[in-house]
Amino acid sequence: MRSEKWRPIILKHPILLRVRCSLRVLLKEAIRYKFEQLSHLEDLYREKHITHKLMPSQWRRKIFLANQISNLLDAQDRSVLSCAEGSLCKSLEKNELSNDIATLREDMVWNPLLKRWNCIHCYNSYYKSEAQKQHFRKIIEQVKEEEEAFDNWVSQHIRQK
Ligand SMILES: [Zn+2]
Repeated sequence: MRSEKWRPIILKHPILLRVRCSLRVLLKEAIRYKFEQLSHLEDLYREKHITHKLMPSQWRRKIFLANQISNLLDAQDRSVLSCAEGSLCKSLEKNELSNDIATLREDMVWNPLLKRWNCIHCYNSYYKSEAQKQHFRKIIEQVKEEEEAFDNWVSQHIRQK
């Protein structure tokens, strides 16, 4: 999602809540299955690399698999399956569940500042008021300015040499 607006997805009906939770469990299982499949293949190339030199085509395949694993985990992190706050997620405290499943039953809110989803508890704690949102906008702008200044410094002092 690329929306610039905050987008809460709030469900009230118990049947819809159960359907949503079941779909999230299915998605988590599909991701876990694919992750294990890709990791197993990558492990085979890693073990072969330890005992024998890999051919160029095998190196390309190993790198491709590593990228596939990285993309899969990144997609999961950016989906409604996880809260952007990670280990600081309020659903962890509230539900006393592991990070992996703490938000399965929770309403989620699209956070245009982070370009990621937050659970409703983190949204209410960290982003609900306009003052909180403005605070985070300032932090993000400050980080962008610092990154640009660093990039400029690098291009002036390192890349030209
Ligand atoms: Zn959260």
